[in-house]
Amino acid sequence: MHSIVLLNPPVVRPSEPPAGLARLCGALKKNGVECAAVDLNIEGLLHLMERREGVAPSADRWTARAEKNLTANLSLVRGPRALDNADAYRKAVLELDRLASRAHSRPGVRLGLTDYKDDSLSPLRSGDLLRAAREYTCNPFFPFFSKRIPGLLAKSNFAGISVNYLGQALSAFAIAGFIRAEFPEVRIIMGGGLITSWLSRSGWQGPFSGVVERFVAGPGEGALLSLLGVERPLAECPPDYSPFPLAGYLSPGPVLPYSASSGCWWRKCSFCPEKAEAGAYVPVAPSRALREIKGLVALERPALVHFLDNALSPAFLEEIIKDPPGAPWYGFARITRHLTDPGFCRSLKDSGCTMLKLGIESGDQGVLDRLNKGIDLGVAAAALKALRGAGIETYVYLLFGTPPENEEAARNTRDFVLANRDGIGFLNLAIFNLPIDSEDGAGLEKREFYEGDLSLYADFRHPLGWDRRVVRRFLDREFRREPAIAEILRRDPPLFTSNHAAFFSRFN
Ligand code: SF4
Repeated sequence: MHSIVLLNPPVVRPSEPPAGLARLCGALKKNGVECAAVDLNIEGLLHLMERREGVAPSADRWTARAEKNLTANLSLVRGPRALDNADAYRKAVLELDRLASRAHSRPGVRLGLTDYKDDSLSPLRSGDLLRAAREYTCNPFFPFFSKRIPGLLAKSNFAGISVNYLGQALSAFAIAGFIRAEFPEVRIIMGGGLITSWLSRSGWQGPFSGVVERFVAGPGEGALLSLLGVERPLAECPPDYSPFPLAGYLSPGPVLPYSASSGCWWRKCSFCPEKAEAGAYVPVAPSRALREIKGLVALERPALVHFLDNALSPAFLEEIIKDPPGAPWYGFARITRHLTDPGFCRSLKDSGCTMLKLGIESGDQGVLDRLNKGIDLGVAAAALKALRGAGIETYVYLLFGTPPENEEAARNTRDFVLANRDGIGFLNLAIFNLPIDSEDGAGLEKREFYEGDLSLYADFRHPLGWDRRVVRRFLDREFRREPAIAEILRRDPPLFTSNHAAFFSRFN
């Protein structure tokens, strides 16, 4: 009989448990496979911060204060007191980050609560990932995972490592290298969002056969079950969060993440990796999704449900109004006419909707049309107004430097934000990256810019001269300096941004 250990490597924002592993765990256990799951991310970060206890206080005052306040800061960030005093919460988050960043001594390593980078190793170069696997003792989490993993693998013949973000990749390969060296009989499987993106790239070669046995794209339950010898898996298996203590994560209340679909029901935006990667849209039937969520809410009693979908479908929103999950919730939605209806927005609010994340991207209609975003700016403005009227907070995403944008169009975006400022709770500003396999990149002049063989984006010469450097200057010198915009940007929770924003809604 097979047995598997599922691992979530550091570093990714430690605000909630890993939803993908919870879904795998549910499917494996329901189908009779022995399975353990461990979040090495939150455990590893806490280990880094806590192991400083008992050593002589640091010489620099900020770190010394962060060491002294560790217990109090953890308790503040994990509880409702964070919401009473935004300044204390902000200070606590920054002190925890400081502590994590000082918990290693290797030069060139930039580690914090939400990311891990190493100047000498790029997660975008397969050669560097192989080096991370070979030199696993150099990973800043080695003292932790070398003690934690052996006990887990004592009874397992498979290890599944989930890699969703670049900040996890170096540690994922260091962990794989450690397992390969210490437990050569254990078969290593890697999956997750980042691996799926790499596998979907034309030209993927994956030169990792000496380290990783098998890579899995997409949700992964089917591939894993068949690898573990389950011929006819049961279809309906809700996620299992029992391995992950929700209250131990760093959020002002326990957060339960849930995906009601994979892929995107729209999948037309020209700039989007979802389109370039051509992954299928696979929704969980809305009635089943709500059944699962309600079961999980009854069991785990979260303060907030976080829907991870790229965009919650109108069908799902209709269903959640009819059958609310029993806990406040937030997630991404597309701007559609539904959201301009004050009655619909009030019903969403009654279902527990605290915040919607909205990718508006541009305040210039010509740009939106060229990006195939399918958004009408009049509808977007009406939606922001109706959501505010219903008391639903918004987290608006804007994208600058897309191929059809020029300076005038960017100023139109600024004007759109100013005109609709009351309906915008939080803002995320991003600069466009061209997906490497994007059809829309065909007419653009790409630049020789070699980030690595695993890079998902290409550098390009902007056809209107509106390239990253000029865009950055516009954002820093003009956009961010608008007093009304600066006020919105100041509300953003430090480091945790949208993961904590719903707790700080203006309407709570
Ligand atoms: S709605 Fe979002 S996820 Fe879907 S294609 Fe557009 S940008 Fe991509």
